[in-house]
Amino acid sequence: MTARYENLIDGHDCPPAQGAYLDSENPWTTQVWAQIPRSTPEDIDRAVAAASAAFRNAAWAGISATKRAALMRRLGDLVEANAKELALAEVRDNGKTYTEMLRQMLNTAEWYRYYGGLCDKIEGRVIPVEAPGHFNYTLREPLGVIAMIIPWNSPVRLLAWKLAPALAAGNTCVIKPSEHASTSTLTFARLVREAGFPDGVVNVVCGLGAEIGPALTDHPDIAKVAFTGGVGSGTAVYVAAAKRMRPATLELGGKSPNIVFADADLDAAVQGVAGGIFASGGQSCVAGSRLLVADAIHDAFVARLADVARRIRMGDPMDAATHVGPVANRPQFEHIMKMISMARDEGATIACGGESVTGAQGGLFVQPTICTGVTADMRIAQEEVFGPVLSVLRFSTEEEAVALANSTRFGLGAGIWTTDVGRAHRMAARVRSGSVWVNTYRMTSQTSPFGGFDLSGVGREGGQAMIDAYLQTKSVWVNTTGVMAPAFPSL
Ligand code: NAD
Repeated sequence: MTARYENLIDGHDCPPAQGAYLDSENPWTTQVWAQIPRSTPEDIDRAVAAASAAFRNAAWAGISATKRAALMRRLGDLVEANAKELALAEVRDNGKTYTEMLRQMLNTAEWYRYYGGLCDKIEGRVIPVEAPGHFNYTLREPLGVIAMIIPWNSPVRLLAWKLAPALAAGNTCVIKPSEHASTSTLTFARLVREAGFPDGVVNVVCGLGAEIGPALTDHPDIAKVAFTGGVGSGTAVYVAAAKRMRPATLELGGKSPNIVFADADLDAAVQGVAGGIFASGGQSCVAGSRLLVADAIHDAFVARLADVARRIRMGDPMDAATHVGPVANRPQFEHIMKMISMARDEGATIACGGESVTGAQGGLFVQPTICTGVTADMRIAQEEVFGPVLSVLRFSTEEEAVALANSTRFGLGAGIWTTDVGRAHRMAARVRSGSVWVNTYRMTSQTSPFGGFDLSGVGREGGQAMIDAYLQTKSVWVNTTGVMAPAFPSL
């Protein structure tokens, strides 16, 4: 049976103004399992109006920091208690394995608890000023209504990276999930109500990016845009924010290198590199999609990696024995296959994989693929695939490794595999990347900042400082003398 979902506006399930819906297809069964609203700018207007009213309403604006923290902790508890339902919605929407999605949901709960802990630590300062008889202090105030735009690959988790600090700081929001994966966000939004947040604090409007995205980012009552997605739409969002002179944080794509030196623990490196690119079918912003490997170990390392790649089990994402589920949606599948064909045309060798596979129930898979003989000037070495496709480039010196690592316009993550501690720190300092992992890969935490250099984005998410990105500072001056000096003494 097809489930029908509605937008959440001002605490109510709201059918889209024009009454149109989009089908949500389960990528494993290829069957339509849900319908989500195909909203229009009218729906965005309603949601922004609700969020603006909630921002001013004493039920939220007047709540104490201690109570806000309690709401956040309660929300974290509810995410944990409902982790299975949330994970299931994501599996149906994007085909990632249930095991992975469940793990993500349990971690997502921690984001709300962590930022809940910061609610009552938002403090201004008393500032010593060289102005006798004047007292100056700062107030830290929320921004207002935050537009949050999220992609399909891990919607509830990536939303938490924005929503947790934004709510902790006292903002309200309008969320636009991806048209390819909206149901988990709507399921999550019910928990926000259940936790006791006032109506209108969190609103969700579903629909196509091209149809409602600009109406949201260009809305005059939006105070900030927080976006995760591709560079193309991220650029459009950034331009819209700039035209309204509003701040924006952007978490974009990557072409992240895993750099393996000849002195590395090769058992560990094979695991890290294989997991870095093939986990989640490569549909991860930090996918380690470039392997930079020392000449001396190139052939042996690629052979070991290919052996792991061939043994990865693709199948039903609900089956605990499955390593990788289907590609999340047909446009993404077509993009991945086009990139593999392009790599062949550019002269790369497909050392393993390279073909598509149809699953038992019709879902589309791409074999874990390793392209060797790749050089930095090839498009396969420069452009994001967002699929299980690894480009292998070789180097002979540390200097060459640095140059190759920094040879794309992205800078999201980088793995460095070496047992030489000095080299590890030298490389960490020289690689242009928001996260650097030494002898590990893909580590993130609510307590640590995450984000990109260059085309990989603007701003950071995670860590204590992130709450500042959802606050603004007001400087208050008080004349304590009771006397105002004449403005024009001679008059
Ligand atoms: P996408 O850019 O196609 O879509 C992201 C969101 O933007 C969707 O909700 C979409 O509807 C919306 N959108 C599209 N056009 C818009 C417009 N003009 N105005 C406003 N909103 C618009 O990305 P995707 O295909 O959903 O996700 C994959 C991309 O996301 C990859 O590039 C990946 O690297 C990136 N990503 C980055 C991170 C990170 O943290 N850096 C995490 C996950 C995914």
